This record gives sequence, structure tokens and C-alpha cells, in this order.
Amino acid sequence: MSEQFDSRYDVVVIGGGASGLSCAVQAAKDGLTCALLEKEEHTGGSSAFAEGHAAFESDEQAKRGITVTKTQAFDTYLDYSHWRADASIVSRFVENAATTIVKMRDEEGAVYEDVTVTAVDQPGELVTWHLPEGEVAHLIELLEADARHRGVDVFLGTSATSLLQDESGRVVGVTATDADGAPVRLGARAVVVATGGYAANPELVDRYTRYDALGEKLINVGGPGNTGDGLRMVLEAGGTEHRSIGTLLLFPFMRDKAITSQTNAAAFQPYFWVDAHGRRFTDEAVALSFGNAGDVVAGLPGAMFWSVFDSGTVRHLVEDGNEVGLGIYVRNGEKLVGLPDEIAADATDPARTNVVGADTIEDLATAMGVDPAVLRTEVDAYNAACEDGVDSRFHKAAKFLLPVTTPPFYAVKMETGIMVTMGAIRIDDRMRCLDADGRPIPGLYSVGCDAGGLFGESYSLPIPGSANGFALTSGWLTADDIAERIGAGSL
Ligand SMILES: Cc1cc2nc3c(=O)[nH]c(=O)nc-3n(C[C@H](O)[C@H](O)[C@H](O)COP(=O)(O)OP(=O)(O)OC[C@H]3O[C@@H](n4cnc5c(N)ncnc54)[C@H](O)[C@@H]3O)c2cc1C
Repeated sequence: MSEQFDSRYDVVVIGGGASGLSCAVQAAKDGLTCALLEKEEHTGGSSAFAEGHAAFESDEQAKRGITVTKTQAFDTYLDYSHWRADASIVSRFVENAATTIVKMRDEEGAVYEDVTVTAVDQPGELVTWHLPEGEVAHLIELLEADARHRGVDVFLGTSATSLLQDESGRVVGVTATDADGAPVRLGARAVVVATGGYAANPELVDRYTRYDALGEKLINVGGPGNTGDGLRMVLEAGGTEHRSIGTLLLFPFMRDKAITSQTNAAAFQPYFWVDAHGRRFTDEAVALSFGNAGDVVAGLPGAMFWSVFDSGTVRHLVEDGNEVGLGIYVRNGEKLVGLPDEIAADATDPARTNVVGADTIEDLATAMGVDPAVLRTEVDAYNAACEDGVDSRFHKAAKFLLPVTTPPFYAVKMETGIMVTMGAIRIDDRMRCLDADGRPIPGLYSVGCDAGGLFGESYSLPIPGSANGFALTSGWLTADDIAERIGAGSL
């Protein structure tokens, strides 16, 4: 059979993000030959944007006096998902996530500088976010260097196009297009699909979710390579969709801004938000769980809202700091000292339509394109709630009730950002892809954001770092499983 292939490996990994690299490095450690295909010119994918990853009962938590038990984590995943998550996959991840910390630190050279939460005030958030120095981008560098050092063939600019199967359905290899555009066929005893989900594919977003034509409106802040290739290939090979296939990690975000923007950070604060018609629609403190806030904005008309604030709020953010950060791109409590200049420039930039400023609420409404009378009524009601210290409509905590009274007033349009999709391919707790009868397809595995089971219909924000933690952990667990089966002669 070997003449059918340009090269043969024990394992071919498709995708060079955290899950694929973790798998490739472990495969090499386990003595397997391995090729890793990455369609971009560099590794990293969406993982390169991640800040930290989750673990439970880790030694990094222990030495900081932090207790998050595996039982707490397991219960939180299952409860949060209303038991739509797959208990066996949750269990496997929860059991092994702390080992990932040890591997990254002791075997790859990572240094963990903190273990924390994403939002100090988010109720029930577990302290699981392990932040490596240089964030996950540095882990990626360490893993890629180690993979190459251990003899993994890393093919950049190489896009896998289909899975090869023998007559029995066993997956025996991959076809790909190499960096020169030439077709290649790689043979493998096992193929690991690690392509990171479909966040960059608007058509798939609309196919798998019930939002109103959300795909084209999304602002993808993750890797451009997450176009659902792995999902397509697995389905073509007889794999199946996990019930959580439509799970997206969304968040409110400004178009045409970097995640470090202070105008964006100010507009993300839980103060006063109105929809496209100028009406307040929620307890803005939903911002404390950015994924929940993402689900809210995605469901609004136009998948957007306006965050409205006054110069008093700008001063507060400069002098006292923000209420909620954006990952570690904008830290919790950070003083937004660059905000006055940035927002003034944004509001006067004729090319920018998503920030407007005015000296009256009515003029602001006109610039926003909403009915001035509606916005006036909403602002007056909100300011009254701020004065009373009681938000009887949406029950927001008093500390976030900042009035909109002092000009100049600003309105910033927040649209729907997407980080990743999660939960596409049905796998078992060994990360093997399952067919329509629930049987593993021999030789086919899926990991990271391609794989379903850890979440229900939404990301589990009470356990920060889950996506990247699962990516890293499912990667090395899969390599070990493949090595075991090859050792046992079943692959
Ligand atoms: C801004 C941002 C911040 C985040 N912060 C965190 C965080 O702090 N903690 C956390 O847990 N999660 C975080 N996430 C999510 C996290 O990064 C991902 O969930 C996870 O790391 C994804 O890993 P992955 O290996 O599954 O996918 P990726 O890292 O996306 O890797 C998939 C790779 O496959 C490649 N690929 C796709 N198709 C093909 C093909 N046909 N052939 C070859 N290669 C292909 C892609 O180009 C990509 O490089 C964040 C995401 C973003 C965008």
C-alpha cells in the first residue's frame, strides 16, 4: 500500500494550533513518527490569541493557596450545560488538565505567572485560568520548537483536503495541497483532526445556529484558518455532528478596532446600553461574563448595541479604573488613561461611523440613527434608577449604575465578535470520531475546538481557560491513546 503515498507516518495531525501541536509533541515523545500540516504560513491558529488555560487541583493552584477540586469542576461543567455536555469527556478533561500544566512547565519550559479569574465580580467563577508568561502564543513557540526538535515534520502552508480510507472505512491517510500548490498523499495509522472549528466560515455559522443571518455580521478575532475544514472532512468520512455543534464563543466588540482599544474597553463596561431602536434591553452587568454578553448581542436586531456614556464616566474610567477587563488585553481594574484622546479622535473621525459624540442626548440620538424621544425617555429612566440606586427594571447591581448626565455624551456601537466555535464533531472520551451508530471510525481522532462534548449550548465562562485547556489536554491524551493502540497492534 505504501506506493500510494508520498510519505507514511504513524500519525498525521491536521492543524498547528494548541491541540495539534500538543498532540504532535506527545506523539514524538511516545516514539511515533508524526507529520503536522498547517495551512497558514505559521502555526498558532486561534490558540495564539489565548491568554491562559484551565486546570483543576494543579500544583500551580496549590502553591498559591487556590483550591478548585476536580469534583467542583466536573459539577460546574455539567450543571452549567444542563447536562448537555458529555460526562465522560468532561471527566477525562477534568482528570488530566493539571497534568497539562506539568507537561507545559516541566517538559516544554513554560513559566506560570498567575492563576486567576477573568472577571473579579463574575458570580461563581472558579480560579482556573493559568496564565503562562508570554501567554499561549509563547506555549505555541515552545511546542513548535520541541516538535521540530523531536523530529516531527511540520509542513506550513499545507492544507489538508480530504481523509483517505480503505475498503473497511479505516482512515489510512490524508490528501493535502502543499506550500507549492502541489497535491500530496500522506499515509498514517491515525489521523488527528485539529483544525479549530468554523468561526471564520459565515456559511457554517448560519447553518449551525438559529441567529438571524449572523455569519456575515460576525467580527472574527481568532485565526483565519478556522473555516471548518476538519468538520467537513470528518463528515465526509462518516463521522457525525455533536449535538452542541452550534456552540459559539461570542462577545461584544467594536468593528475595526484592536482588542486593546480603550474606546472598545469603555464601551464594554456594564453601564448603559441601548439597542438599534434606542431602548435599554438588559442588565449590562452581563458583561462580567463576556460570553453571555456575546450571546445577548448576537440576538439583538442587527447583532449590535450602542454603549452610551458621558464625560463623568470617561473621568471615572481614567481615575478609578474599569469594572471588567478584556482577558489580559485590558486588565481588570485598569485605568483607561488613553481613553479621552482615543474616544475624542474616534468621535471626530469622519471615516468612523461606530463612535459618535454630542452635547445633547437628542443630538447624540440623531447621530446614532435612533429616535431622539425614545433615547431621551430611556436616559431619563436610567438616570432616575442611578439616583435611587435601584434598577427595578433589569436589577443591575447599584455599583454599576453610573448616570448619563454630563456632556459631551458618547455612543459606541458594539457588534458581535467571535473567538471560536466549540463542539462540532462527535467523539468518545478517547477523542475517537464516532459514526452514526456511535462506533469509533478506526484511525480517526478529533481534538480541540473541532471536537464536541465539553460544553452544552454555550461556553462555560465560570471555568475560565476551558477551550485552550481542552485543546492542549485533548492533544496529548490523543497521542497517548494512538501510541497505546499501535503498541497493542490495533492501529
Ligand atoms: C482573542 C482570543 C482569546 C482567547 N483566549 C482564550 C483563553 O484565554 N483561554 C482559553 O481557554 N481559550 C481562549 N481562546 C480560545 C482558544 O484560543 C481556542 O479555543 C483553542 O486554543 C483552539 O485550539 P485549537 O487547536 O482547537 O484550534 P486553533 O488554535 O485555531 O488551531 C487550528 C489550526 O488548524 C489550521 N487548519 C485549519 N484547517 C486546516 C487544514 N485544512 N489543513 C491544515 N491546517 C488547517 C488553522 O489554520 C489553525 O492554525 C481565545 C480565542 C481568541 C480568539
